[in-house]
Amino acid sequence: MTVVDTAENQQEAAVILQQPDLRLRQRSVQRRCFDAELIVQVNNLRVVMLQGVGGVGIAAPQIGWFERVIVVDCSLANRPCRHHGLLMMVNPRIVDASEKMKLGREGCLSVPDWVGMVERHQMVRVAYEDLMGVSQVIESHHYEARVIQHEIDHLDGVLFTDRVVSTRDLVRRMVLDQV
Ligand SMILES: [Zn+2]
Repeated sequence: MTVVDTAENQQEAAVILQQPDLRLRQRSVQRRCFDAELIVQVNNLRVVMLQGVGGVGIAAPQIGWFERVIVVDCSLANRPCRHHGLLMMVNPRIVDASEKMKLGREGCLSVPDWVGMVERHQMVRVAYEDLMGVSQVIESHHYEARVIQHEIDHLDGVLFTDRVVSTRDLVRRMVLDQV
């Protein structure tokens, strides 16, 4: 006899909320509890990110989980860039940012058909808690900094389409990293 008990362990397949779903516009709340469930939830979020074509970042509210949690992994980017590998950030906040801004192209798993040119800080220092609840700070540059800023925006209900320099810069997607 074999025991089949996968049902209990299986994650429900998460659906990525897409614009114009108003739930993407709500502000997510701080995560206070660092328990085993958090680890399961964040890993699930990461799996959803990996299922998206070109996914290098995702924020919890994109799957209808309205707590301040993001996953970023710029080692998956199409072009090589400086990065910290897999980042699972709870309650991330930008504590310092370069005055220098940089224009770059962005796409989003929640805005699947469009890409646009967005201005972001070239460097950000980000404080957050890791999955164990330990405070961490990283300094991130260039593309990874862009992805982190994009994901933190999601926690405040902001989409990259709100920040495009000009609607002329919003173009139909070809193939690009999605965050
Ligand atoms: Zn996004």
